Amino acid sequence: MNEFEIIRRYFAPLAGEGSFSLKDDAALLPSRPGHELVVTTDTISQGTDFFAFDPADTVAQKAVRVNLSDLAAKGAQPAHYLLNLTLPHSVTEDWLAAFASGLARDQQQFGLLLLGGDTGAGEGPVSITVTAFGFVPQGKMVKRSGARVGDAVYVTGTIGDSAGGLAIFKREKHTLSDSERDYLTARYRLPEPPVAFASGLRDIAHAAADISDGLIADLGHIASAAGVRLVVDGERVPLSAPLRAFWGEACLLRAVTGGDDYQVAFTAPPGLEGPFTRIGRVEEGQGVSLVWNGRPVEIAQSGYKHF
Ligand code: ADP
Ligand code: MG
Repeated sequence: MNEFEIIRRYFAPLAGEGSFSLKDDAALLPSRPGHELVVTTDTISQGTDFFAFDPADTVAQKAVRVNLSDLAAKGAQPAHYLLNLTLPHSVTEDWLAAFASGLARDQQQFGLLLLGGDTGAGEGPVSITVTAFGFVPQGKMVKRSGARVGDAVYVTGTIGDSAGGLAIFKREKHTLSDSERDYLTARYRLPEPPVAFASGLRDIAHAAADISDGLIADLGHIASAAGVRLVVDGERVPLSAPLRAFWGEACLLRAVTGGDDYQVAFTAPPGLEGPFTRIGRVEEGQGVSLVWNGRPVEIAQSGYKHF
């Protein structure tokens, strides 16, 4: 199959309004009156963000979802995406069919349509870039920079599960049950960004960021953007039972520096309740500190770094 057949067979059925069924040079991005477009892009690569043995459908879903956490963090509702693929010459029809079925599933679940992309062959690892577009009501995008002294710090979901799943794939020793192990590896393969919470977030949040490099590292971005200090109470960080069972005493430190969570951290007035957990507070100063029973905890490396 050449790339035109691949596009026609696997991607054209996923294309929506403005895409011209992937038969034109470019797409038209449908607009929505009273709204602004929020745009984000992320690449995942075989060997770095997924394994060659991962199922192609969840690889596709992960490529989409690592972008959806960015849109969610900005309070935007997902609408469209572009898909840029670098595939080995040896790619099979089975792999492409499974990959497209994963895309179809997430399009359905999150209300997304494909607008276009690019397809090429390369000698290196599989690389998948998704560029996602979402809508926010005019002026309502949640920025990184709005944290205020006196805010509480909140986080959605649980932290560290994906890093736990990765450690299992890397053959770290454990005594977990099959269901505990499967829970963690599934969180690595298939992040669960809080897409449905985007509209709630933009009503309450002063500042937000998605958690991709690690909770402490990403909170550091919120802190420096506003010139404030974020204090995290270690006891409050939501950790799943399987992750606690896996990592025991080391769980908190590894979870908050692990990365790949694709959840959302935000600051907002204290005392709020919703699909999130209060983990700390915003003070005067700079940086992020983690405290445990009132005592500061030393953090060697705050999160994942590519270089
Ligand atoms: P060009 O030669 O200008 O690069 P292409 O032949 O790459 O154009 O693309 C033809 C059409 O197919 C365009 O509408 C493009 O957006 C679409 N397309 C190519 N690759 C993909 C892909 N991986 N996913 C979705 N659409 C794609
Ligand atoms: Mg092209």
